[in-house]
Amino acid sequence: MWRGILMTAFLVTGTVPTALADPVSATDEQPNRIRIEYGEAKTPENRAVLKILQEHRALERFQEIFSPFRLPVELTLRLKDCDGVSNSWYERPTVTICYEYIEDIRKNLPANNKPEDPVFVGISYRDAMFGQFFYVVAHEMGHAMFDLLDVPLFGRAEDAADGFATYMMLDLGKDEAQRLILGAAYSYREYVKNPRVCVPLIAFADAHSAPMQRFYNLLCIGYGANPTLFSDFVKKGFLPENRADSCRTEYNEVNFAFHQVIAPHLDPKLAKLVLDKTWLPPQEPGPSTPVSLRDTRHSPGEYFNMCVNFSLPLGNARD
Ligand SMILES: [Zn+2]
Repeated sequence: MWRGILMTAFLVTGTVPTALADPVSATDEQPNRIRIEYGEAKTPENRAVLKILQEHRALERFQEIFSPFRLPVELTLRLKDCDGVSNSWYERPTVTICYEYIEDIRKNLPANNKPEDPVFVGISYRDAMFGQFFYVVAHEMGHAMFDLLDVPLFGRAEDAADGFATYMMLDLGKDEAQRLILGAAYSYREYVKNPRVCVPLIAFADAHSAPMQRFYNLLCIGYGANPTLFSDFVKKGFLPENRADSCRTEYNEVNFAFHQVIAPHLDPKLAKLVLDKTWLPPQEPGPSTPVSLRDTRHSPGEYFNMCVNFSLPLGNARD
Protein backbone atom coordinates (compact mmCIF):
# COMPACT_ATOMS: atom_id res chain seq x y z
CA MET A 1 0.00 0.00 0.00
CA TRP A 2 1.10 3.53 -0.49
CA ARG A 3 0.53 4.18 3.19
CA GLY A 4 3.35 1.77 3.77
CA ILE A 5 5.98 3.88 2.11
CA LEU A 6 4.31 7.27 2.04
CA MET A 7 6.47 8.22 -0.88
CA THR A 8 3.78 6.97 -3.10
CA ALA A 9 0.10 7.66 -3.04
CA PHE A 10 -3.26 7.35 -4.74
CA LEU A 11 -6.57 6.50 -6.81
CA VAL A 12 -9.59 5.11 -9.81
CA THR A 13 -12.02 4.42 -13.84
CA GLY A 14 -12.25 5.56 -17.56
CA THR A 15 -13.11 4.87 -21.14
CA VAL A 16 -10.43 6.32 -23.35
CA PRO A 17 -8.19 3.53 -24.62
CA THR A 18 -4.98 4.86 -23.16
CA ALA A 19 -2.62 3.35 -25.68
CA LEU A 20 -4.60 4.83 -28.55
CA ALA A 21 -5.13 8.30 -27.17
CA ASP A 22 -2.70 11.07 -27.99
CA PRO A 23 -0.13 11.17 -25.19
CA VAL A 24 -0.22 14.15 -22.87
CA SER A 25 3.07 15.96 -22.43
CA ALA A 26 4.52 15.13 -19.04
CA THR A 27 6.85 18.09 -18.97
CA ASP A 28 4.86 20.15 -16.50
CA GLU A 29 3.25 17.86 -13.96
CA GLN A 30 1.73 19.69 -11.01
CA PRO A 31 -0.34 18.69 -7.97
CA ASN A 32 -3.62 20.42 -7.09
CA ARG A 33 -4.91 20.14 -10.61
CA ILE A 34 -8.38 18.78 -9.89
CA ARG A 35 -11.15 21.20 -10.77
CA ILE A 36 -14.70 20.58 -9.68
CA GLU A 37 -18.04 21.53 -11.14
CA TYR A 38 -21.57 21.12 -9.83
CA GLY A 39 -23.57 21.20 -13.05
CA GLU A 40 -27.10 22.52 -13.32
CA ALA A 41 -29.74 20.08 -12.13
CA LYS A 42 -32.92 20.19 -14.22
CA THR A 43 -35.36 18.03 -12.28
CA PRO A 44 -36.57 18.15 -8.66
CA GLU A 45 -34.91 14.77 -8.02
CA ASN A 46 -31.58 15.91 -9.39
CA ARG A 47 -31.83 19.22 -7.57
CA ALA A 48 -32.32 17.32 -4.33
CA VAL A 49 -29.18 15.27 -5.06
CA LEU A 50 -27.24 18.43 -5.90
CA LYS A 51 -28.31 20.08 -2.65
CA ILE A 52 -27.20 17.12 -0.53
CA LEU A 53 -23.86 16.83 -2.31
CA GLN A 54 -23.17 20.54 -1.95
CA GLU A 55 -24.10 20.47 1.73
CA HIS A 56 -21.61 17.66 2.26
CA ARG A 57 -19.01 19.34 0.07
CA ALA A 58 -18.70 16.06 -1.80
CA LEU A 59 -16.71 17.28 -4.77
CA GLU A 60 -14.48 19.43 -2.58
CA ARG A 61 -13.56 16.30 -0.62
CA PHE A 62 -12.67 14.39 -3.77
CA GLN A 63 -10.71 17.39 -4.97
CA GLU A 64 -8.62 17.20 -1.82
CA ILE A 65 -8.25 13.43 -1.91
CA PHE A 66 -6.88 13.56 -5.45
CA SER A 67 -4.84 16.72 -4.94
CA PRO A 68 -1.52 14.81 -4.50
CA PHE A 69 -1.59 13.53 -8.08
CA ARG A 70 0.81 15.54 -10.18
CA LEU A 71 -0.94 15.92 -13.52
CA PRO A 72 0.18 17.43 -16.82
CA VAL A 73 -3.17 19.19 -17.30
CA GLU A 74 -6.14 20.22 -15.20
CA LEU A 75 -8.63 17.41 -14.65
CA THR A 76 -12.25 18.35 -14.03
CA LEU A 77 -14.53 16.29 -11.82
CA ARG A 78 -18.09 17.29 -12.62
CA LEU A 79 -21.60 16.34 -11.66
CA LYS A 80 -24.07 16.59 -14.49
CA ASP A 81 -27.76 16.25 -15.24
CA CYS A 82 -27.83 13.48 -17.85
CA ASP A 83 -31.51 13.83 -18.84
CA GLY A 84 -32.60 10.70 -17.07
CA VAL A 85 -29.63 8.49 -17.92
CA SER A 86 -27.70 6.97 -15.02
CA ASN A 87 -24.06 6.81 -15.99
CA SER A 88 -20.50 7.95 -15.35
CA TRP A 89 -17.50 8.24 -17.65
CA TYR A 90 -14.11 9.75 -18.31
CA GLU A 91 -13.32 11.71 -21.44
CA ARG A 92 -10.15 13.75 -21.38
CA PRO A 93 -9.88 15.96 -19.43
CA THR A 94 -13.16 15.44 -17.55
CA VAL A 95 -14.67 12.85 -15.25
CA THR A 96 -18.46 13.03 -15.32
CA ILE A 97 -20.85 11.55 -12.79
CA CYS A 98 -24.56 11.92 -13.53
CA TYR A 99 -26.88 13.08 -10.77
CA GLU A 100 -29.03 10.16 -11.84
CA TYR A 101 -26.26 7.75 -10.85
CA ILE A 102 -26.14 9.21 -7.35
CA GLU A 103 -29.93 9.08 -7.12
CA ASP A 104 -29.79 5.40 -8.14
CA ILE A 105 -27.41 4.76 -5.27
CA ARG A 106 -29.54 6.73 -2.83
CA LYS A 107 -32.86 5.07 -3.60
CA ASN A 108 -31.42 1.57 -3.22
CA LEU A 109 -29.72 2.11 0.11
CA PRO A 110 -30.31 -0.29 2.99
CA ALA A 111 -32.43 0.65 5.94
CA ASN A 112 -30.25 1.85 8.76
CA ASN A 113 -28.80 -1.04 10.73
CA LYS A 114 -31.76 -3.28 10.06
CA PRO A 115 -30.79 -6.72 8.85
CA GLU A 116 -33.42 -6.77 6.15
CA ASP A 117 -31.20 -7.44 3.22
CA PRO A 118 -30.31 -11.13 3.11
CA VAL A 119 -27.04 -10.42 1.34
CA PHE A 120 -25.53 -7.47 3.12
CA VAL A 121 -26.54 -7.75 6.71
CA GLY A 122 -25.70 -4.76 8.84
CA ILE A 123 -24.17 -2.48 6.23
CA SER A 124 -25.23 0.97 7.22
CA TYR A 125 -27.07 3.37 5.01
CA ARG A 126 -24.23 5.80 5.34
CA ASP A 127 -21.46 3.37 4.43
CA ALA A 128 -23.36 2.00 1.45
CA MET A 129 -23.80 5.57 0.23
CA PHE A 130 -20.21 6.69 0.69
CA GLY A 131 -18.71 3.40 -0.42
CA GLN A 132 -20.60 3.30 -3.71
CA PHE A 133 -20.05 6.97 -4.41
CA PHE A 134 -16.35 6.71 -3.68
CA TYR A 135 -16.09 3.57 -5.80
CA VAL A 136 -17.57 5.15 -8.92
CA VAL A 137 -15.60 8.39 -8.62
CA ALA A 138 -12.37 6.52 -7.94
CA HIS A 139 -13.03 4.15 -10.87
CA GLU A 140 -13.45 7.06 -13.28
CA MET A 141 -10.46 8.85 -11.79
CA GLY A 142 -8.49 5.69 -12.43
CA HIS A 143 -9.32 5.89 -16.14
CA ALA A 144 -8.22 9.52 -16.03
CA MET A 145 -4.92 8.69 -14.36
CA PHE A 146 -4.18 5.89 -16.81
CA ASP A 147 -4.74 8.31 -19.66
CA LEU A 148 -3.09 11.47 -18.33
CA LEU A 149 -0.09 9.68 -16.84
CA ASP A 150 0.38 7.38 -19.86
CA VAL A 151 0.02 4.24 -17.79
CA PRO A 152 0.39 1.12 -19.94
CA LEU A 153 -2.22 -1.57 -19.32
CA PHE A 154 -1.67 -5.24 -19.99
CA GLY A 155 -5.32 -6.11 -19.76
CA ARG A 156 -8.76 -4.68 -19.67
CA ALA A 157 -9.04 -1.03 -18.73
CA GLU A 158 -12.26 -1.61 -16.80
CA ASP A 159 -10.72 -4.23 -14.55
CA ALA A 160 -7.68 -2.02 -14.06
CA ALA A 161 -9.90 0.91 -13.08
CA ASP A 162 -11.70 -1.29 -10.56
CA GLY A 163 -8.33 -2.30 -9.15
CA PHE A 164 -7.26 1.32 -8.87
CA ALA A 165 -10.50 2.24 -7.06
CA THR A 166 -10.16 -0.67 -4.68
CA TYR A 167 -6.56 0.23 -3.94
CA MET A 168 -7.53 3.78 -3.14
CA MET A 169 -10.19 2.63 -0.70
CA LEU A 170 -7.76 0.30 1.03
CA ASP A 171 -5.22 3.04 1.46
CA LEU A 172 -7.53 5.48 3.16
CA GLY A 173 -7.14 3.71 6.46
CA LYS A 174 -7.96 0.50 8.24
CA ASP A 175 -11.43 1.25 9.58
CA GLU A 176 -12.37 3.43 6.66
CA ALA A 177 -11.09 0.87 4.20
CA GLN A 178 -13.39 -1.79 5.56
CA ARG A 179 -16.39 0.51 5.52
CA LEU A 180 -15.60 1.70 2.00
CA ILE A 181 -15.01 -1.79 0.58
CA LEU A 182 -18.19 -3.19 2.10
CA GLY A 183 -20.11 -0.12 1.00
CA ALA A 184 -18.75 -0.44 -2.54
CA ALA A 185 -19.62 -4.14 -2.61
CA TYR A 186 -23.21 -3.12 -2.00
CA SER A 187 -23.24 -1.93 -5.64
CA TYR A 188 -23.52 -5.56 -6.68
CA ARG A 189 -26.22 -6.68 -4.25
CA GLU A 190 -28.77 -7.37 -6.96
CA TYR A 191 -26.33 -9.54 -8.86
CA VAL A 192 -25.12 -11.74 -6.05
CA LYS A 193 -28.27 -12.39 -4.09
CA ASN A 194 -28.96 -15.71 -5.79
CA PRO A 195 -26.47 -18.56 -6.06
CA ARG A 196 -27.37 -19.18 -9.70
CA VAL A 197 -27.50 -16.79 -12.58
CA CYS A 198 -28.86 -17.14 -16.09
CA VAL A 199 -27.78 -14.56 -18.58
CA PRO A 200 -27.64 -14.26 -22.33
CA LEU A 201 -24.26 -15.14 -23.79
CA ILE A 202 -23.79 -11.63 -25.13
CA ALA A 203 -23.65 -10.33 -21.56
CA PHE A 204 -20.07 -11.56 -21.48
CA ALA A 205 -19.05 -9.53 -24.53
CA ASP A 206 -19.06 -6.32 -22.55
CA ALA A 207 -15.86 -4.38 -21.94
CA HIS A 208 -16.65 -4.62 -18.24
CA SER A 209 -16.39 -7.87 -16.39
CA ALA A 210 -19.74 -9.24 -15.27
CA PRO A 211 -20.96 -7.58 -12.04
CA MET A 212 -20.55 -10.86 -10.20
CA GLN A 213 -16.89 -11.02 -11.21
CA ARG A 214 -16.36 -7.39 -10.25
CA PHE A 215 -17.86 -8.21 -6.88
CA TYR A 216 -15.49 -11.12 -6.29
CA ASN A 217 -12.54 -9.08 -7.54
CA LEU A 218 -13.34 -6.34 -5.06
CA LEU A 219 -13.52 -8.77 -2.15
CA CYS A 220 -10.39 -10.59 -3.29
CA ILE A 221 -8.18 -7.52 -3.47
CA GLY A 222 -9.47 -6.38 -0.07
CA TYR A 223 -8.84 -9.78 1.43
CA GLY A 224 -5.42 -9.98 -0.19
CA ALA A 225 -4.44 -6.63 1.29
CA ASN A 226 -5.54 -7.56 4.79
CA PRO A 227 -6.68 -11.16 5.40
CA THR A 228 -7.30 -10.41 9.07
CA LEU A 229 -9.49 -7.38 8.57
CA PHE A 230 -11.49 -9.10 5.85
CA SER A 231 -11.40 -12.64 7.27
CA ASP A 232 -15.19 -12.83 7.32
CA PHE A 233 -15.23 -12.88 3.55
CA VAL A 234 -13.80 -16.39 3.67
CA LYS A 235 -15.15 -17.55 7.03
CA LYS A 236 -18.70 -16.91 5.92
CA GLY A 237 -18.11 -18.56 2.60
CA PHE A 238 -18.58 -15.48 0.53
CA LEU A 239 -15.15 -15.52 -1.01
CA PRO A 240 -14.43 -19.14 -1.98
CA GLU A 241 -11.28 -20.52 -0.42
CA ASN A 242 -9.79 -21.53 -3.73
CA ARG A 243 -10.03 -17.92 -4.92
CA ALA A 244 -8.87 -16.56 -1.58
CA ASP A 245 -5.65 -18.51 -1.96
CA SER A 246 -4.58 -16.27 -4.83
CA CYS A 247 -5.81 -12.97 -3.41
CA ARG A 248 -2.53 -12.02 -1.80
CA THR A 249 -0.87 -12.35 -5.19
CA GLU A 250 -3.67 -10.41 -6.88
CA TYR A 251 -3.36 -7.61 -4.36
CA ASN A 252 0.41 -7.58 -4.75
CA GLU A 253 0.02 -7.14 -8.50
CA VAL A 254 -2.11 -4.04 -7.98
CA ASN A 255 0.20 -2.78 -5.27
CA PHE A 256 3.23 -3.26 -7.52
CA ALA A 257 1.55 -1.51 -10.43
CA PHE A 258 0.56 1.41 -8.25
CA HIS A 259 4.06 1.89 -6.93
CA GLN A 260 5.66 1.50 -10.32
CA VAL A 261 3.49 3.72 -12.45
CA ILE A 262 1.30 5.89 -10.23
CA ALA A 263 3.32 6.62 -7.10
CA PRO A 264 6.07 8.52 -8.95
CA HIS A 265 3.39 11.06 -9.88
CA LEU A 266 2.38 11.78 -6.30
CA ASP A 267 3.33 14.75 -4.20
CA PRO A 268 4.54 13.09 -0.96
CA LYS A 269 3.61 15.95 1.39
CA LEU A 270 0.10 16.26 0.04
CA ALA A 271 -0.27 12.48 0.03
CA LYS A 272 0.62 12.36 3.71
CA LEU A 273 -1.94 15.04 4.52
CA VAL A 274 -4.63 13.06 2.70
CA LEU A 275 -3.70 9.78 4.35
CA ASP A 276 -3.56 11.29 7.82
CA LYS A 277 -7.07 12.65 7.56
CA THR A 278 -10.31 10.88 8.46
CA TRP A 279 -12.65 10.99 5.50
CA LEU A 280 -15.72 9.12 6.60
CA PRO A 281 -18.08 10.43 9.28
CA PRO A 282 -18.47 8.21 12.35
CA GLN A 283 -20.83 5.28 12.14
CA GLU A 284 -24.42 6.08 12.95
CA PRO A 285 -25.46 5.41 16.53
CA GLY A 286 -27.98 2.66 17.01
CA PRO A 287 -28.18 -1.07 17.52
CA SER A 288 -24.96 -2.61 16.38
CA THR A 289 -25.62 -5.35 13.92
CA PRO A 290 -22.45 -7.11 12.91
CA VAL A 291 -21.71 -6.35 9.32
CA SER A 292 -21.54 -9.44 7.22
CA LEU A 293 -22.25 -10.83 3.85
CA ARG A 294 -24.72 -13.62 3.30
CA ASP A 295 -23.35 -17.03 4.10
CA THR A 296 -23.35 -18.64 0.69
CA ARG A 297 -22.99 -22.13 2.11
CA HIS A 298 -26.45 -21.92 3.62
CA SER A 299 -28.53 -20.24 0.98
CA PRO A 300 -32.27 -20.14 1.44
CA GLY A 301 -33.68 -22.97 -0.63
CA GLU A 302 -36.19 -20.80 -2.39
CA TYR A 303 -33.40 -18.91 -4.07
CA PHE A 304 -31.65 -21.93 -5.38
CA ASN A 305 -33.26 -22.18 -8.77
CA MET A 306 -33.85 -18.53 -9.34
CA CYS A 307 -31.89 -16.65 -11.94
CA VAL A 308 -30.70 -13.10 -11.93
CA ASN A 309 -32.10 -11.40 -14.97
CA PHE A 310 -29.78 -9.17 -16.89
CA SER A 311 -30.97 -6.38 -19.05
CA LEU A 312 -29.13 -5.80 -22.28
CA PRO A 313 -26.64 -4.36 -22.55
CA LEU A 314 -25.18 -5.82 -19.41
CA GLY A 315 -26.98 -4.42 -16.41
CA ASN A 316 -24.01 -2.82 -14.74
CA ALA A 317 -22.14 -1.87 -17.87
CA ARG A 318 -21.51 1.70 -16.93
CA ASP A 319 -18.29 3.34 -17.95
ZN1 LIG B 1 -14.82 2.30 -16.48
